[in-house]
Amino acid sequence: MAKRDYYEVLGVDKSATLDEIKKAYRKLAIANHPDKNPGDKAAEERFKEASEAYEVLSDDKKRQAYDQFGFAGVDGAGGAGGYQRVYTDFSDLFSGSGFEDIFSSLFGGSARTSSRRASNQGQSIRYTVEMELADVVADTKKELTFVHNVACDTCHGTGSANGGNSRRVCPSCGGSGQIRTTQGFFSMARPCPNCQGEGYILDNPCQACKGSGVMRKQQTIKVKIPAGIESGQDIIIAGLGNAGPNNGPAGDLYIRVNLKPHKYFIRQDDDLYVQIPISMTQAALGSDINVTTIDGAVVKVSVPAGIQDGKLVRVRNQGMPRYKSTSGQRGDMFIRFKVTTPKRLSIKARSLMKELAEAIGEETSPAPEPFDQE
Ligand SMILES: [Zn+2]
Ligand SMILES: [Zn+2]
Repeated sequence: MAKRDYYEVLGVDKSATLDEIKKAYRKLAIANHPDKNPGDKAAEERFKEASEAYEVLSDDKKRQAYDQFGFAGVDGAGGAGGYQRVYTDFSDLFSGSGFEDIFSSLFGGSARTSSRRASNQGQSIRYTVEMELADVVADTKKELTFVHNVACDTCHGTGSANGGNSRRVCPSCGGSGQIRTTQGFFSMARPCPNCQGEGYILDNPCQACKGSGVMRKQQTIKVKIPAGIESGQDIIIAGLGNAGPNNGPAGDLYIRVNLKPHKYFIRQDDDLYVQIPISMTQAALGSDINVTTIDGAVVKVSVPAGIQDGKLVRVRNQGMPRYKSTSGQRGDMFIRFKVTTPKRLSIKARSLMKELAEAIGEETSPAPEPFDQE
């Protein structure tokens, strides 16, 4: 099968910039990724073809050689290691544009974990903090104690008892950590059994970490929780996850914020709902009442005369702060007034009430009406 020109494969000009090449490859890689097209051999072939083209054209030296000498200039680029190399470039390729997220959601995170494994990046870890709704009305600091892997003190992350000298490249896989087998058009990679996919062998492993290069460490940090955060949202702190083996870069720390339900306030996005009981006379006559807001301030709220049970009154800007709003924007507080009837009446109140009933006039055969649609 004749090989197609790399520029043609990616659908870019000979003068394409690295950015254009990345973009073109990204598109093809997403459309044809094997995880996305299980069993589709044609897609897999296109993916490999694009990966090979990208590996060459994204590398200045290789691209020059290819431009000058064609395939002969970059022979072997698509052979052992080609596919893998491009795989490791994914995080770079997709980072910075929110693309990595799209990518990992498309492929269930497989590209991400593959690239992590290849580059020895440590795993990300997740902790959950429980907070009160009232705690996130303003920015707040929360102390979090967590445990993560850090580079081993004794061997400084090398995993070797004598400072890294005893590490040698695995002779079976040549350091790639993978054994490739070719079947027809495809080559498949599996972890090297000689080195368990590590790519190297330790002759003299560090006693403290048994050669892993990492140790468990407890750490306490103060985390800024931004005002208005929603329950279930994550705060991501880069580099505080687990350290990677062999001094690989650390993963990230994901802090999930769980907000406990408030006793009185119900949150809906940035708005808050609260129920306040008022007497029938307050409802009939109207009145000014004091209501305590979520942040503990007291606001005066006018109950309009003749308000009906269950009606909502909006108090502007007394809801939750808008998440990451720089202008201090807040949602609204809605008060649902519950009109209460006195359960016990004094003699005086009772006689006044009777007088009142006569003055208003009582309907002895009230007609039914439809239920309120609210
Ligand atoms: Zn160690
Ligand atoms: Zn090996």
